[in-house]
Parts: sequence; C-alpha cells; structure tokens
Amino acid sequence: MDTRQTPEGMVELQRRNAELEILFDTVRDLASTLSTHEVIERLVARTLRHLDSEIASVLQVEPEGDLRILHAVGLPDEVVRGTRMKMGTGIAGHVAATGEALLVADVELDPRFVRRNHERYYTHSCISAPLIDQGRVRGVINVNNKSARTPFDEADLRLLGAIATHAAMALRNADRYEALLEKAQRDALTGLANHGHFWSVLETEVKRAARYGRPLTLVLIDIDYFKRFNDRNGHLSGDAALAQVARAIAERSRAHDLAARYGGEEFAVLLPETDHLGAVAFAEKIRAAVESLGFDGSDADEGLTVSVGVAGLGGRPVASDLVAAADARLYEAKDAGRNRVCAGD
Ligand code: GH3
Ligand code: MG
Ligand code: MG
Repeated sequence: MDTRQTPEGMVELQRRNAELEILFDTVRDLASTLSTHEVIERLVARTLRHLDSEIASVLQVEPEGDLRILHAVGLPDEVVRGTRMKMGTGIAGHVAATGEALLVADVELDPRFVRRNHERYYTHSCISAPLIDQGRVRGVINVNNKSARTPFDEADLRLLGAIATHAAMALRNADRYEALLEKAQRDALTGLANHGHFWSVLETEVKRAARYGRPLTLVLIDIDYFKRFNDRNGHLSGDAALAQVARAIAERSRAHDLAARYGGEEFAVLLPETDHLGAVAFAEKIRAAVESLGFDGSDADEGLTVSVGVAGLGGRPVASDLVAAADARLYEAKDAGRNRVCAGD
C-alpha cells in the first residue's frame, strides 16, 4: 500500500512540504545579503522561528580550536560574552569535533552535556548542527528548548541540518565578498587605505563631526626629495622605503584614525576626535620617526624626511576644504625648508 494514502502518510507529506517551503524561503533570505554579520543574525532569527524555540546561538570555531558565541537570541549578554567551549566537549563541542548534527531530546539524560544549566536559561532539549565550509567545521548552530516544551525530534534535526548547510554556503560567499571589499579599499604596496577609501571615509567623518560638533583633523605627509631617492637607489628601493614610511605612520595611528596612501609619496591621516594640539603632536611624532629610519638598499648615509601639513575642520563642514587647508600647510612646510610640520586652519 502507498503510505502517502494513509492519514499518517498525508501528515508526513504535509510536514515535508512545509519544511521545503521554509527551507526555500530561508535560503533566499540568507543568500540575499553579503554581510557575514547579517547572515548570522538572519540564521539565528530564522531557526528560532522555524523551530519554534526559545534559544538559538551561532558559535565560531576559533583558530586555536575553542568555540565562542558569535550571536545568540535568548541568552543573557554575559553568557554570550563569557562562554568558551572546548572542541569535543559539550554538545556544540561534540558537533564541531565530529561534523555531525546532534539531537538531544533530554539534556538531563545525556552524558555528553556539560551541566552548566542555570534557572534563567534552563535547557531541556536541544539540536545542534555544524556549519561546514569546504570540509572544515567553521562553526555550530545550536537551538534549545521548543516553546511548546516538547522535545525536538528527527524532523527538526533534519530541517536544522539543511538550513545549516545553506547557511555555511551563504557565510562563505559573504566572507569572500568582505575580503574582496577589504582588498579593494587597500593600497597594495603599503597596506594602508587607498585614495578612494580615504575619500569615502573623509566624507562620512566630516559630516559626522559637523553634525555633532566634534573635532576632526587631517594630517598630510609628503616625502621630501623622493624623486632624488629613486634616482639614486632605484625604484625598488623607493618602493621599500614607501612601505617603511607607511609602517611608521600606521604604527603611530590609533584604531579610529584612518591612515591612507593619498597617492605617490603622499600620505594622509584622518584623526577623528582629535584637536589641533593632539594632531600637531601626532604629526611631529611621524616626522621624527621617519627622520630616524634607516632605509635598506639606500646609500649608507641617505635617510628620508617628510614635510607635514595639519588642518582642522574649523567651521567648514566640507571635505575638499579640509584637504585644501592641510595641503596649503604642507606647501608652507616645503617652502620653509622641508622636514617640518606646519599647522593652522
Ligand atoms: P618634494 O620634496 O618637493 O616633495 O620633492 P619630491 O621629489 O618628493 O617630489 P616630486 O613630486 O617631484 O616626486 C615624487 C616622486 O615620488 C616621483 C615619483 O617617481 C616617486 N614615486 C611616486 N610613487 C612612487 C612609487 O610607488 N614607487 C616609487 N619607487 N616611487 C614613487
Ligand atoms: Mg608629492
Ligand atoms: Mg615629495
């Protein structure tokens, strides 16, 4: 007899249909963003909804093999921040180590579960599936407690496994896209932000600083007599020297500063939340650092110096005005004999 004709068979068929619809919808949703962060948020939100559960979390396998929660719904913040699991221990650790999805109908009865249960987020039943990218487990999706308080079953596990397979693909695409984007914003020789990225951040920062009345300064740096350095030492040594100067700049910049190769032998550093005095001190540090650098491949006594122009946003919330002002100060520094910092709005 064809089981599809029986009432049980019909119920099963309907459930499979519903599963496919959910899966189709989820795949479309996850594939429609190229942000890793967004894929993970959507993955958690959807598993929570489609598996009708209270808690969902995505864990990432760290390079050293520990698991860390990247994003969760239904868990207190301190648990999200503080949780580290070892590969092979606990349910997520077990799934990460084996690469196999796992159903634990009753956590209390499963010896693999680390008993860290706590009144506020008590786990009764859970399912967990690996996020596998090119044969490597990059993370785990965990879902705990059906809202109805019934245990998860094999059909839930199958659905989560299918969602996880597609989520892993969406994550890989997002990662690749983000890596390309990051590469497109960098200057290949120095690793600093390139001209295009610098301008895009500059426009945003100028607007932000103007709107909130915050300080914003720009430092323009130009290597002195660099043509001569190239002529004497060759362009390859010139390239290496550019990379060294870039490193000296990057090493002295803070996390929120944007250091860029503006073009040729010119660099720009955008300093948000930095007043005039702070920017001049920064510029002087860069000038002194370059002066004391030794350059491989150059004549023993040939060093390099930089001239630096510093300007603040002042009352003009216009990006090009800020660049023009710093440029004018840079030319002053050149005219005044080079290897110096000139500042003013
Ligand atoms: P000044 O003190 O007035 O700034 O003199 P300068 O020689 O540094 O200025 P100029 O603008 O005349 O020359 C800039 C030189 O920078 C010429 C160019 O060959 C060199 N340069 C620009 N980009 C690169 C690069 O990527 N690699 C190398 N090796 N040299 C570069
Ligand atoms: Mg120049
Ligand atoms: Mg120059």
